[in-house]
Amino acid sequence: MRNAAGSGQEREDFRTNSEHHAGCETGPHLRGTAHLDDAVAYYVANYAAKDLLFSTELIQLKDQLGDFEDCDELSGRKRKFCDAGLPAKLTQVLEAAAPVYRAHLWPEHDRANRRWIMRVAPLVREQGVGLSERLADVYQTRWPREKIRVDLAGYANWSGAYTTADPLRVTISSLDSRNQGAAALEVLFHEGSHGIAEPVQAAIIRECRQRDKAIPRDLWHALVFYTTGEVLRPVLGSSGAAAGDQDGTVPGGGYTPYALREGLYQRGWNDYFNYCRDSGNLTLMDTPPSTTPSPACFFAVVFATSLLSRYVVS
Ligand SMILES: [Zn+2]
Repeated sequence: MRNAAGSGQEREDFRTNSEHHAGCETGPHLRGTAHLDDAVAYYVANYAAKDLLFSTELIQLKDQLGDFEDCDELSGRKRKFCDAGLPAKLTQVLEAAAPVYRAHLWPEHDRANRRWIMRVAPLVREQGVGLSERLADVYQTRWPREKIRVDLAGYANWSGAYTTADPLRVTISSLDSRNQGAAALEVLFHEGSHGIAEPVQAAIIRECRQRDKAIPRDLWHALVFYTTGEVLRPVLGSSGAAAGDQDGTVPGGGYTPYALREGLYQRGWNDYFNYCRDSGNLTLMDTPPSTTPSPACFFAVVFATSLLSRYVVS
């Protein structure tokens, strides 16, 4: 993972997210800075209602801005290869706001990005290959051969990190309190898993359709959370990374996975969690328990737990 090794997006950049949230952070010392206010107004009018994860337009903008990370302008007027091909008005707005962002917010974001990378990099070097092999094994696939680009930014989306496909790129907020300490490694591998977990989602959909069952909402994502957490738990629980860390640890050592810590299962995923936890050695042929989650598709859960049986201790 490129940035985890210390290169890439920690550089000064033109990230849309950063520009947007720079506006959100506009404090008294920046208020009245016309170009920044213009950029915020432009973002509100054109992009704020769109989802960073699902809007093709925003995904393309993010990727384009990442591709031009070495450029200090986006129009190509100084260096031709820096013509990012963005809409003219957006180029103008970003270039006008950039000096304010650089002066007031970038130093803090840059420090946070570098600090985040510095802390997680040793864990990635030590555990990364083993973890990626384990996860790929669970999902019955291969970890991508190519490096996965990970962009660190002051802010990501509402969840603190997200991943977009084609090309596979991960964006992580270095300032988000949920991503700190030992949790950084889980965030990294959770997001990376989005690149290999697609067959799980496809299988759930297929199984449900074949049986004319409702597709359980977000089951595949709950599984990715559960799987990453359980694969990383022993690693983080026993490593020095968790010891004495305020984030992601429980008293007396050990590691509490993100979904448990943040209460994700309490927000409608409780049935999924119970099945994942209790059905570690179910097989596809097992008898359904008497209380199937409704309208969830039980077969999808069984399919999923058959994957989980590869590592959940019975
Ligand atoms: Zn996810």
